[in-house]
Amino acid sequence: MGRESDDTLAPSGSLAETATACHAGQWADMICARAAELQFDVVGFARADEPLRQHKADFDAFIEQGMHADMAYLEKHQAARERLDGEAILPGAKTVVCLARRYDRGAEAEADDPPLTQRMARYARGRDYHGHLHKRVATLARFVRGLRPGVVARALCDTAPVLERAWAHRAGLGFIGKNGMLIVPGKGSYCLLGEVVTTLSLQPEAYGKPLNERCGSCTLCLDACPTEAFVRPFVLDPRRCVSYYTIESRSTAPAELHDKLGDDLFGCDVCQQVCPYNQVAPPAVEATAPFEPLPRWREVSPARWLGVDDDEFLELTKSSPLRRATRAGMAQNVLLSAAQRLRQAGPKGDDDARSQLQQGARHDDPSVRKLAEQLLGSV
Ligand code: SF4
Ligand code: SF4
Repeated sequence: MGRESDDTLAPSGSLAETATACHAGQWADMICARAAELQFDVVGFARADEPLRQHKADFDAFIEQGMHADMAYLEKHQAARERLDGEAILPGAKTVVCLARRYDRGAEAEADDPPLTQRMARYARGRDYHGHLHKRVATLARFVRGLRPGVVARALCDTAPVLERAWAHRAGLGFIGKNGMLIVPGKGSYCLLGEVVTTLSLQPEAYGKPLNERCGSCTLCLDACPTEAFVRPFVLDPRRCVSYYTIESRSTAPAELHDKLGDDLFGCDVCQQVCPYNQVAPPAVEATAPFEPLPRWREVSPARWLGVDDDEFLELTKSSPLRRATRAGMAQNVLLSAAQRLRQAGPKGDDDARSQLQQGARHDDPSVRKLAEQLLGSV
């Protein structure tokens, strides 16, 4: 449980190590066993009362260079990202229980995924994890509160200004790869993170130690990125990233990236897909039901996103991460993908793609119309 810092392939906190030594008084073991029951794949513990100085310095540099682009929420509560105690997150916080849940279903299971979802990042094909994963983290937080009278515990799941990967790294769950992802040796990087921040102190040996980076001379992720979004190893500039433009950005992608954004409709997995650590990790076949594509995606064609009104958009994206992209954003993603198909088709053309661009030029949102006209004029 989060106690090893060696270079073995068994990540600290792997469930194989849990449950057996659980008895009253060994809170770390008890938390690990409960986390296993809640289907977390990895769990570890980080001290909360020591600030994350280096990670915070890197984060500050990221903000100062404007790389957060229009993700203004990253700039807010900047100080909270360094510490988890005091007013920042939880007064008196002593421990961060770091949790990871795998969502990789494996190539065999994915082969039958609807075509629409094959153009979405894997984590987004099923139900929004902010709901189902947060419930599990909250259940674990309740369990931690019950370990001793007066213990306070707060559940986080991408819901507070916390440097999740940095805490998971400190807890010994994995190392940060050159692609910026937390890589859990033996399990890969297709993992969602959650935390229970608590005033409970654990015995010193329960706390993990950060794993050394294990990329070696590999540069596969940097070389495979379609938009050359890595400024250097470990540093991703979201202003060049497909995931940013197809999910987070509220501005239209700049013209110089239009022919690089590819066919993705929501997110991009390329820099994870090529990573050897994901290729050798066995698929997380059990417990991946929430990540199976929503049945409705079998009925939805990409072009549908161009024609939905606000109510239809809300209905279609119910319990789905796609809602984050906004109705206009999804329409723009379809247009960029249609333009790419037109470019690739060359002189023989692609009637469907052209008619999608023409439909976009009649869209009720001005940003979508503007992009459609720009693309019609350039392909
Ligand atoms: S998500 Fe895609 S576009 Fe973004 S850095 Fe990774 S490979 Fe590049
Ligand atoms: S692809 Fe290679 S360089 Fe990139 S994160 Fe994986 S191991 Fe590291």
